[in-house]
Amino acid sequence: MVEEYANYVGGKWVKSESGQKFEVRNPTRPSQLLGYFQLSSRGDVHAAVASARRGIEQWTQMSPLNRGKLLYRAAQILQEESDQLSRELTMEEGKTLKESQGEVQRAIDIFLFYAGLAPVLDGKTIPSGQKRTFIHTRREPMGVVAIVTPWNFPIAIPAWKIAPALVSGNCVVFKPASLTPLLAYRLVESLANAGIPPGVINLVTGPGNMVGEELFKSSEVDAISFTGSTDIGKRISDSISQSKKMVRVQLELGGKNAAVVLKDAKLDEAVHMIKSSAFGLTGQACTATSRLIVEEPVKDRLLKAIAEAAQMLKVGDGLQPGIEMGPAVSEEQLKKDLDFIQIGTGEGAKLVVGGRRSNSGGTVVGHFIQPTIFDDVRQDMTIAREEIFGPVLSVMSAKNADEAIEIANATSYGLTAGIYTTNLSSAFEFADKVDAGVIKVNKPTTGLEYQVPYGGFKQSSAGTFKEQGLEALDFYTRVKAVYIGY
Ligand code: NAP
Repeated sequence: MVEEYANYVGGKWVKSESGQKFEVRNPTRPSQLLGYFQLSSRGDVHAAVASARRGIEQWTQMSPLNRGKLLYRAAQILQEESDQLSRELTMEEGKTLKESQGEVQRAIDIFLFYAGLAPVLDGKTIPSGQKRTFIHTRREPMGVVAIVTPWNFPIAIPAWKIAPALVSGNCVVFKPASLTPLLAYRLVESLANAGIPPGVINLVTGPGNMVGEELFKSSEVDAISFTGSTDIGKRISDSISQSKKMVRVQLELGGKNAAVVLKDAKLDEAVHMIKSSAFGLTGQACTATSRLIVEEPVKDRLLKAIAEAAQMLKVGDGLQPGIEMGPAVSEEQLKKDLDFIQIGTGEGAKLVVGGRRSNSGGTVVGHFIQPTIFDDVRQDMTIAREEIFGPVLSVMSAKNADEAIEIANATSYGLTAGIYTTNLSSAFEFADKVDAGVIKVNKPTTGLEYQVPYGGFKQSSAGTFKEQGLEALDFYTRVKAVYIGY
């Protein structure tokens, strides 16, 4: 019997107004139906927003300390269920069990981090220029926050938005990606079971171009936090500016991240880390390394080693031990990856390894693809410019460190960038000159710590507010200045 998962609105699990549902399937074996989710309509969105609005009074009257305790309790529930959640995450999104365990733990840690910050949400005192005047600032919640998230980190990204939103006193309407709503459901379930008051968190599932758009159009929404592709992010930004609505907006978008390897790098370590950042998570990370820029003297040696490592990677069902790379999340994403590979070949890049669907020894029929490497990639090629979001690495050579930096910057994106070098000056110069929100030195471009601010530059972000770390609280709060004469 396949389970049907409800929306969560006004503290109750409810079906969509229309009674319509959509299916979620396992990308490893698409014949396996994981569940039915609510295909919500406009009415469901409005009910969720109205419920969030009603929830504000009770939630803001609760002390931050008690809000933090609820988040802490939800984290405990997630921890108790982490084995099951990790397995469900692998079945829903395809990443390996180890990757899923890491993501679930990260969501728990994020909840704990923001729960701990709740009692120290602070303002400041500012000396006045006038006599007998005391000035201080306070952080107040924004009100109703709309949160829309992508499928590739279906529990960690919702956690890093919802946790700071809630501890700051906001009520949330959350629409997860339609490919991976199960882990979103579990996250909301943990908050419901922790005893969060009705209306504080609301979940509505359904297609982005309907549920997401309607949510973002609502005049009752005070802040919008979106993570997803640059195309959709731009569309959202245009429609908000056309609506002339005054709303705070955070858009975190795509990437085309470069890793540079200089001739003085420790090549073995670099190979190991590039393998994990290019092919880990099936390349479906916004921070994945998708361009590899290598100083000429070490290029052949490095390419040979990475090609060997890619060929050795075990692709298959992420629940099985020893599997290092799961499937693409969907048939559509697999087709997109294969189309880019065809374009790369057509534009003259040299296919070094991979490039095809992978049937993992003929045992499975999921959306598997081989780890793929292209050499002789030029900057003007499509595979050097566009985000693929699959396990496809484009290799380019650079005459020296300056040229490598120039190539690294020759992209409209600016999410993460990495350099492998043993020269301190080269490392700092890279950090000074590369236009990206996160710089990694001798570390994979993937992998972020939750206590550190995160956000892209250029087309990777609207560039308004950072996520994660203490800085996340800036987006979810507004500052009020109070002057007191005495
Ligand atoms: P997407 O297609 O842009 O969708 C993201 C979310 O937006 C989904 O929930 C989607 O709903 C919804 N949506 C679609 N159209 C919408 C609209 N018109 N209005 C409002 N919401 C709408 O992205 P994705 O394929 O899920 O995720 C992959 C992308 O996310 C990549 O570009 C990746 O780089 C980026 N990403 C960025 C970060 C970061 O922190 N910068 C992190 C992770 C991923 P449906 O699922 O129902 O279509």
